[in-house]
Amino acid sequence: MREKLKLRNGKRMRFKGTFDRYGLKPAYRGLPLETVCLKEIQDMQGEEVTDHLWFNHTKGFKVLGLLCPGDRIAFDARVGAYTKRARVEEEEEWGGRQVDYHLTRPTKLKVLVRVSPRDIYTVCEKCGFANRLTAEWCRRCGVPFEQLEEQQLEVEVVDPKLRQMTLEDEFMSIMKSIGAVRSKA
Ligand SMILES: [Zn+2]
Repeated sequence: MREKLKLRNGKRMRFKGTFDRYGLKPAYRGLPLETVCLKEIQDMQGEEVTDHLWFNHTKGFKVLGLLCPGDRIAFDARVGAYTKRARVEEEEEWGGRQVDYHLTRPTKLKVLVRVSPRDIYTVCEKCGFANRLTAEWCRRCGVPFEQLEEQQLEVEVVDPKLRQMTLEDEFMSIMKSIGAVRSKA
């Protein structure tokens, strides 16, 4: 349980955290919902209140632009309780359900520090999800990303043996045509 948040339950206050990664969670209908994971969440005095929390990827986050792992963010949020369901392996330990504390309704989001390099995503043109740079299709909406460079390479790939034989044949035919070699009759 997040004891440091329990102590602040019901309060709305300012926090800071480090962007870790984008994620997805199932929606009741339609495409999965985008989420944001912040780690090392502290109050503004620098006391860590939890090691990580997931948030919905709200407008407040989106206006910050693409975030990269390590970017530092400040925001206001409300400390609240929620019921957590046990993972199968924890069920016996604490009976399946437990109250824990999290932060809701983050507002007044501000980037404190941006890290570099930042060119680490393939952003889906269809749904806007920031996929890993090496992704071949969008993890959220499934649209394939065109691998133009690879396609072009494939077109140019010719079996080297074939090419060599062709050049050799060509060379021989020229030699023969100028009488440099004789055809074996
Ligand atoms: Zn997509």
